[in-house]
Amino acid sequence: MLGFISHPACHDHDAGPLHPDTAERLDAINNQLIMSGLDYVLRHYDAPQASRAELERAHDAAYVARIFAAAPKNGESVEIDGDTVMSPATLTAALHAAGAGVLGTDLIMRGEANPVFCAVRPPGHHATRDAAMGFCLFNNIAVAAAHALAEYGLERVAILDFDVHHGNGTEEIFHSDPRILFCSAFQHPFYPFTGHESDSRNLVDVPLPAGTGGEAFRDAIRAHWLPALERFRPEFLFISAGFDAHLLDDMSGLGLTEADYRWLTQELVAVAGRHADGRILSMLEGGYEPGPLARSVVAHVNALIG
Ligand SMILES: [Zn+2]
Repeated sequence: MLGFISHPACHDHDAGPLHPDTAERLDAINNQLIMSGLDYVLRHYDAPQASRAELERAHDAAYVARIFAAAPKNGESVEIDGDTVMSPATLTAALHAAGAGVLGTDLIMRGEANPVFCAVRPPGHHATRDAAMGFCLFNNIAVAAAHALAEYGLERVAILDFDVHHGNGTEEIFHSDPRILFCSAFQHPFYPFTGHESDSRNLVDVPLPAGTGGEAFRDAIRAHWLPALERFRPEFLFISAGFDAHLLDDMSGLGLTEADYRWLTQELVAVAGRHADGRILSMLEGGYEPGPLARSVVAHVNALIG
C-alpha cells in the first residue's frame, strides 16, 4: 500500500507573492491524484512534527535553535537568506515537512506502508548542516535518512536526487559518511553552482548542460547512477524528487518530461526490489509549474506503485 504523507500546515507556509514555492503546488498535486484515480489506491497520513533530536541528526543544534528563534512572532515575514523566507506559518510547516520523512521511514521499516511519497513544503535539499538556502530550512530527506541509520541500524542507504538543482545540502551533510551513497543529476552551471568538483567516494554527481534532453539524461543515469547503485546494494532508497527539470518549468533547461520521470522511477524501483526489499521513500523538492509538476508527480507515484 502506497503511503501518501502531507500536512495542512505545509499549505500555510507563505514565501511571498512573487516566490516560486507556492501552496498552489500542493493543490495541483492533490487534484491530479484525484483525477488520475490514484487517490483511491493510496493511504493518507498526516505528517507529525520532527523533534529537535531528529533534526539534530542532520543539523547543528545551534542552527536548529537559530531557526526556532528566527520564526516571526509579529505577523511579518523575515528573510533568512536571499530567497528563503519565513512567514508566521513557516516553522510549523518546516517541522511537519521534516517529520513526514521520519514517519514514512517508520511506516516502511515496520511494514505498514511501502512505497511512501511525501508531498511537503518547504523543500529541503539545499539546507546544509548549519545554513538555510534555496527555499530550504531543514533538510527533509537528510533527516529521514539519518533516522533510518540511527533508529534501524541500516548500513547502506542511497539518496537519489533528480531535482534540477544540485542537492548541495544533502551532499554536505553526508559528505564523508560511508553508509550513504548520494547520487545527484542536475543542470550545470546553475544554482547553487556546486557538485561539479565532488571528491568523495560516496558521491555520484552528474552535472548536465542546459538543453540535455530526456535521452541524454537517461544515458547519464545508466552510465553513472545505476552501476553505482548495483555496487552499493542499498538497503533503503530515499528520493529527493524535484520536478523542476520539466520541459515546461521555466526555472530550468534540461527538458525532461513525465515519461522521463516514469522511466527513472521504474529503474529505482527495480534497484529497490533487487537490494532493499523494495523499500523506497520519496519526498517532494522542487517543481514550480503546478500543471507539469502535478502530472509528473502522478507519473512518479504510478511508477513507484509499479
Ligand atoms: Zn530545484
